[in-house]
Amino acid sequence: MIHLGGAVIQAVYIVTILLVMLGIMRLRTPATARSGNLLAAFGMLLALLVTAITVPLANWLLMVLMLLAGATVGTWAARAVRMTAMPQMVALFNAMGGGAAALVALGVSEGIVLGGGLPPPMVSIPGSFTVLIGAISLSGSTVAFLKLQELIKGRPTVFPGQRWLQAALVAVALAAAVLAVIGRPWGAALPLVVLAGVATVLGILLVLPVGGADMPVIISLLNSLTGLAAAATGFVLGNAVLIVAGSLVGASGTILTQLMSRAMHRPIGHVLFGAFRTGPATAATSQEGEVRETGSEEVATMVAYAGRVVIVPGYGLAVARAQQQVRDLMVALEGRGVDVRFGIHPVAGRMPGHMNVLLAEADVPYDRLYEMDAINPEFARTDVVLVIGANDVTNPAARNNPESPIYGMPILEVDQAKTVIVLKRSMASGFAGVDNPLFSMAKTRMLFGDAKDSLTALLAALKEVS
Ligand code: NDP
Repeated sequence: MIHLGGAVIQAVYIVTILLVMLGIMRLRTPATARSGNLLAAFGMLLALLVTAITVPLANWLLMVLMLLAGATVGTWAARAVRMTAMPQMVALFNAMGGGAAALVALGVSEGIVLGGGLPPPMVSIPGSFTVLIGAISLSGSTVAFLKLQELIKGRPTVFPGQRWLQAALVAVALAAAVLAVIGRPWGAALPLVVLAGVATVLGILLVLPVGGADMPVIISLLNSLTGLAAAATGFVLGNAVLIVAGSLVGASGTILTQLMSRAMHRPIGHVLFGAFRTGPATAATSQEGEVRETGSEEVATMVAYAGRVVIVPGYGLAVARAQQQVRDLMVALEGRGVDVRFGIHPVAGRMPGHMNVLLAEADVPYDRLYEMDAINPEFARTDVVLVIGANDVTNPAARNNPESPIYGMPILEVDQAKTVIVLKRSMASGFAGVDNPLFSMAKTRMLFGDAKDSLTALLAALKEVS
C-alpha cells in the first residue's frame, strides 16, 4: 500500500469529478463526443489507480488481474460488437454496473457483520438501498438484453396474478431492508441476502411485461437505477467519486427517461403497468390489402424529378450498414437540385440517438436532420419519402387503430406525403411485432431487398436518369 495523504486523494478525486463532468458536457454534439468520452475515461482511470494504490497490499494482485480482465473485455467488446448490437451491449454493461454496486454493498455490510458488529445506519441504509436497486437493475437489464438479442420474445409477457406477486415481493423486499437496518432478530446478513434474491426476481418481473415501443423508456430507466445504485455505494464506502459519478448517471438517466416517455406520449406508469391493463400485444396478422412492388429504375426517376425527398432511416439501415450509400444518395440528389431532408424519430433504431450516430458516421451534415415534430408538418409538402429499414416508427396504426399495441405512440407521418417508397427485405414486422398498414396504401411502393443493395442499385439507376 502507498500512503498518499488524504488531501492528495481528495484532490485526485476532484480532478476525476471535473473530468467526468466536462466529458458529459462534450457528449452533447457529435463533434466533441469522442474527446468527451476520452476525458471521462481518463478521469475514471485516475480514480481507479489512486484507489488501487491506497488499499492494503494483499489485494493488489487481485485488483491488477481484475483491471486487466475488465480492460480486455471492454476493449474487445467495443471493437468486436457490431453497431447494431450496441444496445444489447449497453444493457449488459448496465446489468454489470447494477450487479457490481449490489455486490460491493453486500460485501461491505456482510464484512462488518461477520467481523462481529452491526453496520452503522450510514452504511446499512444506503447499503440496503444499493442491494435493492442494484439487484433490480442487474436482472432487469439482463432481461432487456435477452429481448434485444431476440433470445426471448420482445413482446410483453404477462401471466395471471403477476401484479399480486409483484406487490407481495415489494412487501417482502421492504421488510427485509428494514430488518437489515435494525439488525434484529436475525442480524443484518440474512435479510440482506433475502433482499438481494427478492430484488433479482422483481427486476425480471419489471421488464418482462414491457415490450415494443416502451422498451427504450424502460432501458433508460434501468440506466438511471444503476447510477443511483452506484451513488448509494459511494455513501457505503465514503467515496466522493462514486457519489458524484453515480448521481450524474442517475440524474441524466432520469432526465432521458422523462424526455423519452414525453416524446412517446407514454407516462412512466403506462410503461411499467400498461401491459397488465391491455394484455399481451397481439401477434402480427397477415398483411391486408394489395402490396405494390417497385424497382430501382422507377424509384430513381421519381426521386430525380422530385422537388423534395425526405429520407426516414430506421433499424434496418443500421443492420444493412448502408449509411454511406444514404449519404451518396443525398449528395447525388442535391446535385440535381432536390431538397433532401432526414426525418428522425426519437426511438428509431435500438438505442437513443441511434440514427444520429449512424448518419454522423457517414458525415451527413447535422442541419439535414429534422426531429419528428419539425418534419411532420413538412410531409404534406413532400413528393417522395424513402423509408429505409424503418417500420414501427412510420406505422399509421399507432394513430388510427385503438386496438393496436402501439396505439398512441407518435409516429413520423410519412403517409401524408405524395409517394412513399419502403426499402426492406420482406413483409416482416418490426420490433413491436405488428403489421404496418402503410405498406398496402395506394401511394406506397415496396422496394424489396437488403437496404445497401437497393441503395447501390438506386444510385446506379440515378446516374442513368438524364
Ligand atoms: P423496426 O424494428 O420497427 O423495423 C426495422 C425494419 O428494418 C424491419 O421491419 C426489417 O424488415 C427491416 N430491415 C432489417 N434488416 C434490414 C436490411 N438489411 N435491409 C433493409 N431492411 C431491413 O425499426 P424502427 O427503427 O422503425 O423502430 C424501432 C423499434 O425499436 C421501435 O418499436 C422502438 O420502440 C424499438 N426500440 C427502440 C429503442 C431505442 O432506444 N431506439 C430501444 C429498444 C427498442 P425486413 O426484415 O423485412 O427487412
